[in-house]
Amino acid sequence: MKPHDFRRLIKHLDDLSPAQVQDASRRITEVRRKTEAITEIEARAQATSKCPHCRHGEREKWGRTRTNIQRYRCRGCRRTYTGRTGSTIQHLHRPDLFLEVAKDMLGDRAPSSIRELSRSLRRNKHTIWRWRMIILNALSGASSNSFGGIVEADETYQRESRKGSREWVRHLRNPSQHPKPPRRRWYEYGEKGIPMMRGLSRWQLPILTVADRGGARRFQRIAGRSNGTIQMALSPIVARDAVLCTDGLAGYAAFAQSSGIEHFVIKTKPGQKAVSATHHIQNINSLHSRYKDFTRPFRGPASKYLGGYLQWFIARVGKIRPDEILRTV
Ligand SMILES: [Zn+2]
Repeated sequence: MKPHDFRRLIKHLDDLSPAQVQDASRRITEVRRKTEAITEIEARAQATSKCPHCRHGEREKWGRTRTNIQRYRCRGCRRTYTGRTGSTIQHLHRPDLFLEVAKDMLGDRAPSSIRELSRSLRRNKHTIWRWRMIILNALSGASSNSFGGIVEADETYQRESRKGSREWVRHLRNPSQHPKPPRRRWYEYGEKGIPMMRGLSRWQLPILTVADRGGARRFQRIAGRSNGTIQMALSPIVARDAVLCTDGLAGYAAFAQSSGIEHFVIKTKPGQKAVSATHHIQNINSLHSRYKDFTRPFRGPASKYLGGYLQWFIARVGKIRPDEILRTV
């Protein structure tokens, strides 16, 4: 818009009726969303500056796309590209709304349901679901890979959920090809769902949780709580000069002993004060309770997506910025 026209537009703002002000402000929000997403996508193109088709370094500006994103033409292969060519969001019609979903997932407020997002962004709920899955994939590196100093380790669990699974449908359609899916036995139900047993039942998927005082965090689904499994999970990520604080599950002691790591077993009953001011597992305990709050609205995420939900949780705790998602997809 020319400066002259812009001044005229601004001047006319005073003449708007209250209803028109609301309408105009809604339009401005929409435009701002769009430009925000475009800025991120363009920043991505500027950061790489290599042709995604042939890796050639030289390019020229080549107009803008229909969604108003800067297009480039490669001087090597003469093909055109933008900041999102070759990414998972290459074919999104509304990168701005995609960014809104990312903001909702990573913001300070509890995330909205798919249905709520579908209503507020006026998109089909399958579209929102697909976007959420793209974002979950982009968050796969949210957990830390190295822990040092005082390291707290513990486990929590997630109830098994076959939500969205087609196994019963397949079984009923063709029993000879698809065996009957397993079901809980009567003794596996307690009065309030499945009780936490001494060992975990097969319906409880164990999650190993690790945190250090430097802010590194990790939630990882593990196959079981055997010494071998715990050792395999911790060995590559815990520094040899670390001090390990746990609730005393045998696997931790075995791991600490075999790798020569100092190990404190913290035995505290609820309400009781920690034995020492430095050696405690309060950070991990608080992460566990935040995790329960986080998963409650999902009524138990489907087990096949559990890994993604764990990274989502870690990303929220670590305050990963939504606009970073547009650069990593
Ligand atoms: Zn090229």
